[in-house]
Amino acid sequence: MTTYTAPVDDMMFLYEKLRNNKFYNELDKYKDVTPDLVKNILEEAAKINQNLILPLAKAGDEQPAVLENGVVRTPPGYKEAYKKYIEDGWTSLSCDPKYGGQGMPKTVSAFFDEMLSSASLSFKLYSELSIGAYNCINHHATDDVKKKFLPKMVEGKWSGTMCLTEPVCGTDLGLLKTKAVEQSDGTYKLTGQKIFITSGDHDLTENIIHLVIARSSDSPSGTRGISLFLVPKFIVNEDGSLGPRNGISTGSIESKMGIKGSATCVLNFDEAAGYMIGPKNKGLNSMFTMMNLERIVVGIQGLGISEIAYQNSLIYSKERKQGKSNKNNSSNGSADFIIEHADIRRSLLNMKSIIEGERALCFWLSQQTEVSLNHNIEEVKQEAADYVSLMTPVVKALFTDMGSEITSEAMQIFGGYGYTKDQGIEQLYRDNRITPIYEGTNSVQAIDLVFRKLINKNGDIIDRYIKMIKKDLENNNEKLSPFIKDLNIYLDKLISFTTWIKDKVENSKDDANAACNDYLKVLGLIAVGHSWIKVLEVSFNDYDNNKEFYEDKIQTARFFFQRVLPRIDTHCISAMSGSGYIMDFKFN
Ligand SMILES: Cc1cc2nc3c(=O)[nH]c(=O)nc-3n(C[C@H](O)[C@H](O)[C@H](O)COP(=O)(O)OP(=O)(O)OC[C@H]3O[C@@H](n4cnc5c(N)ncnc54)[C@H](O)[C@@H]3O)c2cc1C
Repeated sequence: MTTYTAPVDDMMFLYEKLRNNKFYNELDKYKDVTPDLVKNILEEAAKINQNLILPLAKAGDEQPAVLENGVVRTPPGYKEAYKKYIEDGWTSLSCDPKYGGQGMPKTVSAFFDEMLSSASLSFKLYSELSIGAYNCINHHATDDVKKKFLPKMVEGKWSGTMCLTEPVCGTDLGLLKTKAVEQSDGTYKLTGQKIFITSGDHDLTENIIHLVIARSSDSPSGTRGISLFLVPKFIVNEDGSLGPRNGISTGSIESKMGIKGSATCVLNFDEAAGYMIGPKNKGLNSMFTMMNLERIVVGIQGLGISEIAYQNSLIYSKERKQGKSNKNNSSNGSADFIIEHADIRRSLLNMKSIIEGERALCFWLSQQTEVSLNHNIEEVKQEAADYVSLMTPVVKALFTDMGSEITSEAMQIFGGYGYTKDQGIEQLYRDNRITPIYEGTNSVQAIDLVFRKLINKNGDIIDRYIKMIKKDLENNNEKLSPFIKDLNIYLDKLISFTTWIKDKVENSKDDANAACNDYLKVLGLIAVGHSWIKVLEVSFNDYDNNKEFYEDKIQTARFFFQRVLPRIDTHCISAMSGSGYIMDFKFN
């Protein structure tokens, strides 16, 4: 089984030393969220994740969720753990106190999301979509609906789902077939089939609140005719008590490569009562409130799984002896710990430098998200919202692809013992592998970035983002200068690539389509490099106060700048070779 120690020190470093963001600090709402308070929360979070939730990962993998006589049963131990999890208030961490939440900022809830992803992604998924559904209802529903549904969801007694996918539509939601027929009282009856629905049914909560997209009878075809509906598993009476079962049944649950403890359901809606949320035919816009926040959280899943993969690889490489290191001249046949080998050290540093850079980027993005939601000045809010929209596909796709790379590297470090079941490493690889697929595949994220985000507002958002980084690089700290010089070189490459790809979006869409994954990686690596610059600035300035910690940061950053950032060269060369030879190729 894997072990896990929550990286509270690194999280607290970010919260204490990188919180100094002018607009974020202007948010009155979070003035009382002091580092001491955050430290207490993170220490408690570490305990529940390390002690209670981590063991559920193996249990869920070996005894997956099952469907018995129409009822979904979660793996052994899930029910007891979930009870404690909601009693301790973890589902309410970032929710509005108006509905019983604790009102913590996303900077804090993102840390918790990371820990929970490390401990057990399958267990996490039972509450993750509930928070997404909470956000969507909170943004788009009427006050009556909010009062009726949100308190129980915040408490964790009811959970939520996101029902988009159907047999005929995954990426292309305009093809959906689920129908909604309006009733004389203004409610709707929904009929159709949704597939791949995470936590679509289970035995952890008293009710499940499905957010379903469907087409009402008089709506146009395509995405312009999609509306959003709230469809509860049990009808909720006016006084909030539970009424009869709604017309929803579980057809089957999927047998999957990973996240086996998570029930992925086929749901059949048979004239199920539903309530429209937000304006008619604008359902996809409303759903995007949930999907956008969810995409960042899926990126954090990749980060969390990477962290636990790294931690276990590090421990193993200090225990496993094989071969002689280049320093070992003894002739007695003794072997060294594999951590002595340069290649293993490279692999470990690759993981560590990506993970810590991603965590710092995620912290910045969480701050921007809070500013975009809560700042008093409209212009400031908008600017932050623009950065969040630019970075959402980047964080989703980069962090989860890196999760695939890092869990694969971890398996490599464990050798044959990584491939077999005992150590739990192959499970991390399998569990992570869904993250580049769901919530919009990573290619779809890259397409969104290039074909929408880059050209939004006449391409102004990416230009402002690059300018902001340039400004941050105007720093006279001598020790920082080699890092700044490197990042500037790659920033110029990003600028050329941006000009090239914007032109292709206009004039040669296949070239742009074939280059968009590379573009996302380049922008992502720059964003992580930029985050490392901020970490380094603190590390040099505050060096004497915590030498060991900061020296570790500086050496890790050095690896990132020398070994990871140069991947940008390959991405640029390969992408800008165009797509003619790809499109002309005859597949037999
Ligand atoms: C375990 C699991 C849990 C899930 N949970 C949920 C859930 O809770 N709710 C929900 O609604 N759905 C859920 N899904 C569905 C998931 O979001 C979809 O599988 C995903 O969005 C991809 O859709 P698809 O599988 O139909 O693939 P397709 O859309 O058929 O895509 C196939 C391939 O084509 C590529 N592609 C598609 N369009 C383009 C294009 N224009 N240009 C280039 N390439 C393109 C894709 O990137 C992909 O590689 C889940 C899926 C799984 C496996």
